[in-house]
Parts: sequence; C-alpha cells; structure tokens
Amino acid sequence: MQDRSRKGNRHVYSVAVVEDEALTRKAIALSLREAGYDVHEASDAFACRALMRQQRLDMVVLDLGLPGIDGMSFARELRSRSDIGLIVVTRQAAPAARIAALDIGADDYLVKPVHYGELAARIRSVMRRSGRDRGRRRKLGRWAVDLEARTVNDGPHNANLTRGEFDILARLVQAGTKIVTRQELLSLISRTPQESDLRSVDALVSRLRRKLDATEGDSLIATAPGFGYRLAAAPEEP
Ligand code: CA
Repeated sequence: MQDRSRKGNRHVYSVAVVEDEALTRKAIALSLREAGYDVHEASDAFACRALMRQQRLDMVVLDLGLPGIDGMSFARELRSRSDIGLIVVTRQAAPAARIAALDIGADDYLVKPVHYGELAARIRSVMRRSGRDRGRRRKLGRWAVDLEARTVNDGPHNANLTRGEFDILARLVQAGTKIVTRQELLSLISRTPQESDLRSVDALVSRLRRKLDATEGDSLIATAPGFGYRLAAAPEEP
C-alpha cells in the first residue's frame, strides 16, 4: 500500500471496478490505486458478488454493458441489498440512459471514455455527500452501532457480538426497516455451501436478540415469518 493512501485518512476506501473489458478495467483500477483507493477488479456481476462475500466494499464502479447479468440488473440488485456507493459507467450518453441509472439508485453516472481524474473526484464526492466518509454510526434503541469500527455499545457496556452476529446486525441496520431474507443473511455468515443451513441464521438472530434486547417480546429485531428478519424500528443517525 502506498504511503499517500493513508495520508489524512482514517480508513482507505475499498472500491470494486466491475468491467468486462480487461484493458479498460485495469486502466481504471490503476488510476484509482494511484488515487489512494484499495481497488478490486471483477470482470462481471458474478465475480463482484463473490468479492462482496469476502470483502467489505465502500463503492462499486459498474460498467453497464456486461455479459451474463447486465449492469442495470446488477445495479438494482446492489441497491436493493446495501447502501454501498454506486457509480455506473456506460457508452450511452443519452439522457434516458442517465435517468434510468439514477432512478435505480446509482449515486452518479459517467460516460465512456472515463476521465480518470474525474472518476476519482466523483467517488470522493459520493462519499462526502452520503456521509460515508464520516464513519457509519447508527443509533438502535439504546445501542450505538458503529458499522466501520464494528462495535455495538450502550454507554460503557459492549454487546460483545461475534463476527457473524455483527455481520447480520450490520446488514439489518443498512436495510432500515426493510426485510432481509434468511438466504441473504446466510450468505453473509457462511463460507462454504456445506454451511448453508438457514437454521444457523435463526440461531444467530436468537443470540443477537439475547445480547441486545432488554426484555422478551420487545425485540429490536422483528421476524418476517417465511421471509427473514428486519429491524422493528428504523435506526437513527446520531
Ligand atoms: Ca463492457
């Protein structure tokens, strides 16, 4: 890692570049590495999904013209399941394409050929506007949840969550009060298909409730029977 990537930064942002054309992808990745980002490359949506299972990402730079799952569908998928920063890149300069991209929740939009300095500036701007660069803290009942430091505290009392418990709580917090399916929660906590047992999600949520809830029947986490889980009330920004 280069020294300048740390300068003045508490945290180096992780960016995935999703682009099937290798030369373009490598050029964008190189420019973002030089701008100080921790850059990961993915040649399609499947590779990006795999990356997201291994690695926390702050931002996805997504080419819309992808083989397999097209960029628009993948953008919609990303937006439905996380608050990750999303900049889409396309060859189409038409206003309709731009509007469609922003409608599905992209934070910004660039037309090829990408000007690398401009892309880095857009990423900084998205991080700033969204507050992602101020640490990601939420208030959940009496708990203060810090998504970046991965801590959950009630004053001096730490909830002492395991990695899996925290990953599940973080995903629920990111979803607001939307339902997160058990399948999606399972994908956060399992590393291998053999571990693919939805009941392990239920077990983790039970443990989470025991650690976070003051009283029975007054849970911060609500069950959506047959679907998954959601927060009973929206987390607040401190
Ligand atoms: Ca492409």
